[in-house]
Amino acid sequence: MSRYFVSKYAALTPYTPGEQPRGRQYVKLNTNESPFPPSEGVIRAVEAEGHRLNLYSDPECFVLRGRLAARYGVEPDMVMLTNGSDDILNFAFMAFSDEQSPLFFPDITYGFYPVFASLNHIPYTEIPLTDDFSIDPADYAGVNGTVVIANPNAPTGKLLPLDVIEAIVRSNPDHVVIVDEAYIDFGGQSAVSLVPRYDNLLVTQTFSKSRSMAGARLGFCIGQASLIADLNTLRYSTNPYNVNLMTAAAGVAALEDDDYYMGNCRVIMDNRAWTTSALEALGFTVLPSKANFVFAKSDRIGGEELYLRLKEKGVLVRHFKLDRIKEYNRITIGTRAQMECLVDTVKEILKEAAV
Ligand SMILES: *Cc1c(COP(=O)(O)O)cnc(C)c1O
Repeated sequence: MSRYFVSKYAALTPYTPGEQPRGRQYVKLNTNESPFPPSEGVIRAVEAEGHRLNLYSDPECFVLRGRLAARYGVEPDMVMLTNGSDDILNFAFMAFSDEQSPLFFPDITYGFYPVFASLNHIPYTEIPLTDDFSIDPADYAGVNGTVVIANPNAPTGKLLPLDVIEAIVRSNPDHVVIVDEAYIDFGGQSAVSLVPRYDNLLVTQTFSKSRSMAGARLGFCIGQASLIADLNTLRYSTNPYNVNLMTAAAGVAALEDDDYYMGNCRVIMDNRAWTTSALEALGFTVLPSKANFVFAKSDRIGGEELYLRLKEKGVLVRHFKLDRIKEYNRITIGTRAQMECLVDTVKEILKEAAV
């Protein structure tokens, strides 16, 4: 830390992204990227925008916003786009929470929530998941603060049904409930359908996971126009051009190729079922996942040891050192060949550990 770094940030612990390895080629199952390439249409759209990079992008994302609104059955003024959905979470925390409306989220969830809370000096309460790593909706009823819930949750993969989300939203009418749907396309039911009825509901989604665009950075949120206007006040006070030309064009093309992406999601769901049974057959406990990853632990080898042994053998998964979940690993669901490689490697490691 330099002696110039201001004291209000001195205690900030930044988010730790999953490794992006250089050099060695891994079977990369650690950051929930899609194993499938962008569609041909997306690649063409990005190439076509290259010659216009001398111009600013459209801060209103007019075309893409219209297409997204149509895709999700809402009005364009109910949509905002950003540079990845992490951006929205930061804006939403800034806009809708403070000392009078502190944050509430689970103890086991997306690691960025406490970081954005700390960055913005917003007090927060981590509500423990139940023993089976579920969110108990009763814990969020009328908490008198801003609620943020990842649904499906990360890194557990567990999904709350829509009526439970609705009950939480209804029980906190004076505060915003943010539902982070980064993984909703892998088998969940989106809360977007509730937005017209609740002015305190904000749903965020991303093109990073289900639409093979993690590197393009495109996220969006859907809420009533009044909430979206507040978020735009903050976006236009930081960087109105946060969605670049190429990414906006890629987003439009991705929506045109929606069948390709939703088809890929179905393949991931099949591979998830296959991987879950294969790991269970090896004695693993695998939480029931509705995301593009599974969260699993073995009764024969510790979580960190398994992570390290897999890495030695060229398979990268994500391990978290948090006490409650340190025996688990989060394994991204890739192609069937990648998952077969994972399972074969796990078998090898368990055999070696048994000697
Ligand atoms: C991946 C992820 C995001 C955001 O990803 P972006 O790439 O910034 O869109 C948000 N929430 C959760 C729970 C995630 O796993």
